[in-house]
Amino acid sequence: MTVPTRPVVELTGVTKTYGDVVALRCAGVVIRRGELLAVVGPSGSGKSTMLNIMGTLDRPSAGTVRIDGHDVGRLGDRELSALRAGTIGFVFQQFHLAPGVPALDNVADGLLYSGRTRAERRRLAERAMRRVGLGHRLHHEPHRLSGGEKQRVAIARAVLGDPPLLLADEPTGALDSRSGAVVMELLHQLHEAGTTVVVITHDRDIAGSLPREVRLRDGGIEHDSDPAPDPESVPGAALPAARLPGEAVR
Ligand code: ADP
Ligand code: MG
Repeated sequence: MTVPTRPVVELTGVTKTYGDVVALRCAGVVIRRGELLAVVGPSGSGKSTMLNIMGTLDRPSAGTVRIDGHDVGRLGDRELSALRAGTIGFVFQQFHLAPGVPALDNVADGLLYSGRTRAERRRLAERAMRRVGLGHRLHHEPHRLSGGEKQRVAIARAVLGDPPLLLADEPTGALDSRSGAVVMELLHQLHEAGTTVVVITHDRDIAGSLPREVRLRDGGIEHDSDPAPDPESVPGAALPAARLPGEAVR
């Protein structure tokens, strides 16, 4: 049995609407540190909306989003950027690598605003590239990499600063099944090393292979294979979050 730990993501009464389209309505989702879970559902069911809200890339129309204990709605843009930079790594279906830029620099640029020197960024980037098995592709530009290799570069960039939370939106959606399996294996390894990993997918086989599955339909949660216990009952849940620079004392 796994020991429940402090939540890294808590969505409470969250809705997101676009005009009269309800993209997401989610009474409660709690993701604890160390989890590996799938968010699955047909196209248009609200998966990306949920991920963007969990990733603080988008704010909900209503409800409360807590990331690593911080109430996102109470943070200004600067605190939010700091929280995001220190806590969350992102991987997208279409890789989002800069064309014409060697893989190592694509990864290193993930720390562009971290205050680290270029040499330090590149040293960390090289380590991350080796971690994803691409130590032999440091100087390849994206057009010389396979789809699977591009996604591994994107993963290296996402985990460069060792974020506790990795959010992946259809990470295998643009890959053949073999490259997809390699990417999933890598996500499993990151999870085993301690990262909380949320994988969005419309692939039911992938979803079924992960320890927890949250199924969305028409913006609502149709099924959660592991509904979280009452957060108040989780040891450590009541610990105050570390304060961000500039964040008001609550
Ligand atoms: P999924 O990722 O599961 O395919 P999305 O979260 O992208 O679904 O979309 C959920 C619903 O919200 C869809 O009906 C989509 O058309 C709508 N939607 C998403 N983003 C926007 C937007 N920026 N403007 C208007 N409607 C949107
Ligand atoms: Mg989507």
